[in-house]
Amino acid sequence: MSLLSSSLYFFAGFSIAFIFPRISGVFVTRGKGFNLNFPPHPEPIPLSPHLTQRVLHMRMFYWLGLIVSLVPFGFGFLSVKWGNVPFGFGLWLSSGWFILSRLQTFIGGPKPPWTLDMAQRLQIISNQRESNSRCCQFSSPEWLLSGIYCSVCKKKLDDMSRPDLGRKRSDGFFMGILRLIASDGNPIFVSEGKNFEVEYNESE
Ligand SMILES: [Zn+2]
Repeated sequence: MSLLSSSLYFFAGFSIAFIFPRISGVFVTRGKGFNLNFPPHPEPIPLSPHLTQRVLHMRMFYWLGLIVSLVPFGFGFLSVKWGNVPFGFGLWLSSGWFILSRLQTFIGGPKPPWTLDMAQRLQIISNQRESNSRCCQFSSPEWLLSGIYCSVCKKKLDDMSRPDLGRKRSDGFFMGILRLIASDGNPIFVSEGKNFEVEYNESE
């Protein structure tokens, strides 16, 4: 096998294993039918049970990616042993790297972009609308990039930055995918402290 064809096989294996575990999170929820309950990206999303459920779905796809990546990982191993070595090594390296980066969470690494804790916080803030501690009479919390604000009194209710929520992205198909893969769904916006002005014309 020549060096060129070896390199191409390696690259093919690497690319396949790179895309494979990311497909569910990048594509599955982008369809129109999946987003009827949400305003289009990048507008703020009002808090609702739909939103809480979406966070839980995104979390599920995130961890599903880890399970899915075991397929190219195992297949890469078999291919190194009995088939095309560079192709298998590409598969194996790419999915191994992916698995390691996801598992970092358990040894104090960065948290996933969507967590159970996040869904619970959304629910608690949503419930406060009914309580005496609500921010104003017609309290209507919505999620902006920089945190959760009441759309009526503009008070900041939570500092949580907004991760990708599976809506079809306003930056187009290719740029959208590139940004998703680069950010892994994490919020691109990083909160700068409590005195941040509400910015309704923000873009990601
Ligand atoms: Zn309010």
